[in-house]
Amino acid sequence: MIRFEQVSKTYPGGQQALRQVNFHIAPGEMAFLTGHSGAGKSTLLKLISIMERPTVGRVLINGHDLNVIHRRQVPFIRRDIGMIFQSHQLLMDKSVFDNVALPLIIEGHTHKEIAKRVGAVLERVGLADKSRCLPITLSGGEQQRVGIARAVVNKPPLLLADEPTGNLDPKLSLEIIRLFEDFNQAGVAVLIATHDLGLIARMKYRTLTLKKGQMITDGLTEEWPGDD
Ligand code: ADP
Ligand code: ADP
Repeated sequence: MIRFEQVSKTYPGGQQALRQVNFHIAPGEMAFLTGHSGAGKSTLLKLISIMERPTVGRVLINGHDLNVIHRRQVPFIRRDIGMIFQSHQLLMDKSVFDNVALPLIIEGHTHKEIAKRVGAVLERVGLADKSRCLPITLSGGEQQRVGIARAVVNKPPLLLADEPTGNLDPKLSLEIIRLFEDFNQAGVAVLIATHDLGLIARMKYRTLTLKKGQMITDGLTEEWPGDD
């Protein structure tokens, strides 16, 4: 699903954000990506979502080598990736329903199909009764669930989340992670970037750790070396 081969990224200006990073995430796998602020987590996610390009090395998504794809293919590859952010990036003047429907409208589905799929996904994230609400009237945890519903409504095989629990308390954070687990159990590959080590420590998932742009550990949380 995701493959990095000797990937380095240096930003214009000389800041080296990633150094010779190698890893592979299989279809249907769930993993965390962690590391201190500035370690390169966001850069790694931006390389996957084709918002940045590697300086050296290869990134493959779903078998596509991102170095050789045509500009016109970019939207089609992105369509396979559901993105979730810390700030939910919801349209505040649109209802929950309209926010979640957006990706389906862009793909040109019929009204009937859109109503059915948005209804099903809102049910799944526990917001069926909030469909007509404006996001501003919802709690932080509920807004995050709207963001997740929007990311999964077109059934992408890969979900990428950048600090999805950043603004939430531990209980709500765990609920959000449980939601990712549900989608993962339905076969979706999930990569969650977070610096919330307390949250990760309660899970038994593969965890990739970046430090100053290098992948220093890749394994189950229990096998972690002590942090320095
Ligand atoms: P993290 O998400 O782990 O906090 P980032 O990927 O945002 O790390 O940043 C890694 C390094 O790259 C940092 O030193 C950061 O300052 C630098 N960096 C990130 N984005 C840019 C950019 N657009 N231009 C220049 N340097 C950047
Ligand atoms: P239906 O095909 O009747 O919509 P599904 O059980 O396939 O019913 O899906 C119900 C909802 O759950 C869908 O609208 C979709 O948004 C979400 N969903 C189901 N499977 C996946 C999946 N593999 N990835 C992401 N979302 C999914």
